[in-house]
Amino acid sequence: AAVEAVAEQVVAQLREDCATPAARLDGVAAAMEEELRAGLREDGGSKIEMIVSYVDDLPNGYCATSAARLAAMEEEMRAGLREEGGSKIKMIVSYVDNLPNGSEEGLFYALDLGGTNFRVLRVQLAGKEKRVVKLESTEVSIPHHLMSGNAEELFGFIASALAKFIADEGPNKVLGGKQRELGFTFSFPVRQTSIASGTLIKWTKEFAVDDAVGEDVVAELQKAMEKQGVDMRVSALINDTVGTLAAGSYNDEDVVIGVILGTGSNAAYVEKADAIPKLKGELPKSGNMVINTEWGNFFSSRLPTTEYDQALDEESVNPREQIFEKLISGLYLGDIVRRVLLKIATQCSIFGDVDQTKLRSPFVLRTPDVSAMHHDETPDLSIVAEKLAENLKIADTTFEARKMVVEICDIVTSRSARLAAAGIVGIIRKMGRGTAGDKRRTVIAIDGGLFEHYVEFRQCLESTLVELLGEEASQSVSVKLTKDGSGLGAALIAAAHSQYA
Ligand code: ADP
Ligand code: MG
Repeated sequence: AAVEAVAEQVVAQLREDCATPAARLDGVAAAMEEELRAGLREDGGSKIEMIVSYVDDLPNGYCATSAARLAAMEEEMRAGLREEGGSKIKMIVSYVDNLPNGSEEGLFYALDLGGTNFRVLRVQLAGKEKRVVKLESTEVSIPHHLMSGNAEELFGFIASALAKFIADEGPNKVLGGKQRELGFTFSFPVRQTSIASGTLIKWTKEFAVDDAVGEDVVAELQKAMEKQGVDMRVSALINDTVGTLAAGSYNDEDVVIGVILGTGSNAAYVEKADAIPKLKGELPKSGNMVINTEWGNFFSSRLPTTEYDQALDEESVNPREQIFEKLISGLYLGDIVRRVLLKIATQCSIFGDVDQTKLRSPFVLRTPDVSAMHHDETPDLSIVAEKLAENLKIADTTFEARKMVVEICDIVTSRSARLAAAGIVGIIRKMGRGTAGDKRRTVIAIDGGLFEHYVEFRQCLESTLVELLGEEASQSVSVKLTKDGSGLGAALIAAAHSQYA
């Protein structure tokens, strides 16, 4: 009983630190909305560095839970932000001012590089009536060593996969002599200067190919393709959120927001061009511009964080960056749960006498495992037992211990889903939508393995949207799984920007 009390104490603390009552989420949504506005004002690459170093100076770091400290820090950060303008959220101008409308025709290719897997697609578009008549793709997992190697190797790997994919087509035969055209989905923050170019600001997730930072990723890709003898033109460089938004609106014109909930997390939305002070030069004819928010880097003192988040962040390849992403996305949820279990194992013997080697290894518990445990419907929670034994070498668990593990999964995942919902509400409010009187439909296209496969996550996100928007207003708001939207969207945007169009 004493052992259980200790474990329960850890879980109770976790529950408290992860709490996301509606009022708090409203605060998160408001902070998100404010950041979105700030980010539209001025480009702010350097401001992020400034914030990060400032936070570093504070004792106990930014994750400390004392409300007073957090409030003070927030004020400092705001002051810092004000001086230089901009925000932690980059609000990247995508140069996509027209989303595909269905009239696109022809054969187009896409590359989708973002997290764990990398995909090559070939899409045959046949105009308004027939739409996507054929979509073929292959998926290759990226060897881990390439994620922290050099740019030449990484882009060489990508180009060789592309070369293999088109090898059996014959020299431009299928296109009647035209050059092949490609949309490149590159899901890392890129400063774009046009639809088909952009320099890498920084890597996120597990990538750290240092010599690519500051380089034009399209030029890097073109160079690698030439080496492989691939004759293709990169017609569009897009973010996966923009691709998801494009693919979503291709099928439903009320889709105005695209969200990724996969390895990482991010969102894009359709903004009015005249509401983007930092947009220089001529305004686009459509009057609109898609903004890639890069919301993964969002931070607010209102975010509920724990000691586990702090440790995860400190030990990550990008400490003090991408805090929102680290609370939400699939790369991290499993590791947060692992850290809680480790704490419990070190404080009491509820798991028996465990060898902690595995428990101490980062990322051995993955989010799909968390999902499997969370959804375990066997009477004795045998899937939980199996996952704990398999991944963490925690064998012979009691039923009580298994139930506790399910609860931990639930706490960590609910926080994630509810924060994602708060972020979406921040965007909806920024767009001036989702109010009770609003008759327009607002549809959010969502792609990513976390949203697609983790049912509890998805349901929690959807119910939180209703909770935050209110019953009435939420009737005009809906979310839609847009599977593989990031790849298809790249092909669609490439088609919309074809040199032959
Ligand atoms: P990416 O984000 O790399 O482009 P995906 O959109 O396919 O790729 O998302 C993959 C991520 O989704 C994985 O890293 C994992 O965190 C999460 N995921 C995949 N399958 C599941 C699952 N069954 N349950 C929960 N999360 C999952
Ligand atoms: Mg993806």
